[in-house]
Amino acid sequence: MSASANWTISSVRDALTAKKVSARELTDDYFGRIERKNSELNAFLTLSKDRAYKQAAAVDGLVAKGSSLPRLAGVPIAVKDVLSTEGVRTTCGSKILENYTALYDATAIARLEAAGAVLLGKTNCDEFAMGSSNENSAYGAVQNPAAPGRVPGGSSGGSAAAVAANLAVVSLGTDTGGSIRQPGAYCGIPAMMPTYGRVSRYGLVAFASSLDRIGPFAQTVRDIAEVFSVIAGWDQNDSTSANVPRPDYVADIDKPVSGMRIGVPDEYFAAGLDPEVRTKVEAGIALLEKIGCKRVSIRLPHTDYAIATYYIIATAEASSNLARYDGVRYGLRTNAATLSDMYRKTRRNGFGAEVKRRIMLGTYALSSGYYDAYYLRAQKVRSLIARDFAEAFGQVDAIVTPTSPVPPFKLGERTADPLQMYLADIYTVTGSLAGLPAISVPCGKTPEKLPVGMQIVGPHFSEGRVLQIANAFERAGGFAI
Ligand code: GLN
Repeated sequence: MSASANWTISSVRDALTAKKVSARELTDDYFGRIERKNSELNAFLTLSKDRAYKQAAAVDGLVAKGSSLPRLAGVPIAVKDVLSTEGVRTTCGSKILENYTALYDATAIARLEAAGAVLLGKTNCDEFAMGSSNENSAYGAVQNPAAPGRVPGGSSGGSAAAVAANLAVVSLGTDTGGSIRQPGAYCGIPAMMPTYGRVSRYGLVAFASSLDRIGPFAQTVRDIAEVFSVIAGWDQNDSTSANVPRPDYVADIDKPVSGMRIGVPDEYFAAGLDPEVRTKVEAGIALLEKIGCKRVSIRLPHTDYAIATYYIIATAEASSNLARYDGVRYGLRTNAATLSDMYRKTRRNGFGAEVKRRIMLGTYALSSGYYDAYYLRAQKVRSLIARDFAEAFGQVDAIVTPTSPVPPFKLGERTADPLQMYLADIYTVTGSLAGLPAISVPCGKTPEKLPVGMQIVGPHFSEGRVLQIANAFERAGGFAI
């Protein structure tokens, strides 16, 4: 077993069944890789060795008995540290939760483990998932394994880096305004944000509840479909989870895509798009045409308002969700003479600069006298953005865009200017506001060898179709255009 072996879910299954490797050996191998590489990458914050070896032993027990193996048996996985894990530290990349251990498992993790997956540990992320570069983590930045010296993207930077560096076969991230798709693009791997409500948010520490979603990173689109098939579906513990029928995403993945109408929005190829990113995404669209898709030019006229709308709604919801970290209920407490001083000092010491900025912005947008001018207006524009997409999907089956306007930037390059950082979310926040599913797939590299991502967006609950297009693209060689 080579230390750089590129395992996939099906190669793990085959090797276990043929007894070429045991789940225990595979787990050892992955912890060995993490040991060798994590000090440089900083992708993992906490390892869950006891839990991993217990699960590996259970899988090896099934193999020994000759029982049929569950779908993800023995597959080493990593999860973003905003997902609750019983008995394992859950920091959300924040000092305020440095010593917090969750009391229960997030539904998505419970489902992965019930399907036999081996949880290696929790991955680094921007504090409370607020960021686009992973530089807002209280535990330090993450290196991009595909572009040394550059950011891995954020906020799920650790989950993307772990898979890109082969420190886990698949991982989970969360996406509120781009945090799965953008790090997927920057690290050169596929990554999917499902439809809002498709995957239970139970056990996901809330950032902006009307936008937050959980989804997978993997090396292949097929593995994305495998993981998604396990985590998707209704959950009685999440009142916003949708009770809609679920196809078998893996069984349908090779269906032909010829004849599909692909919408290309003018607004996404305008000023601000890096020319090298444009060249690669155009080449990606040309490849889709070559395999039978039809290119259709479309308009999404409210795109210009998306960043402002997203940053009002997301910060408003965050200011409310983060009120619970008060030194009484969770994590850090800084003692002081009076109760209000204790609240203040705890929050001052526990939260980083970006989180504080957003709490202030969100509190302002929700305060009396400003609510109508900011929050309510943002909600109205959100409906207009969603309507743009609904109209476009009257003409096309899916929409193709760049994932990010720029390739991965240098560590430290944008930290001084938060607005500049926010602007890089332009192509991802729109689908977030509209609740749509979207996958980012690699579409080659710039001449400087920086990964570029292409985004495929579909109508609500059309993940099957989005995965088919992404899979056809991968099989046609699109990842390495
Ligand atoms: N970059 C966006 C933000 O900072 C998105 C974050 C996310 O999707 N969690 O809010």
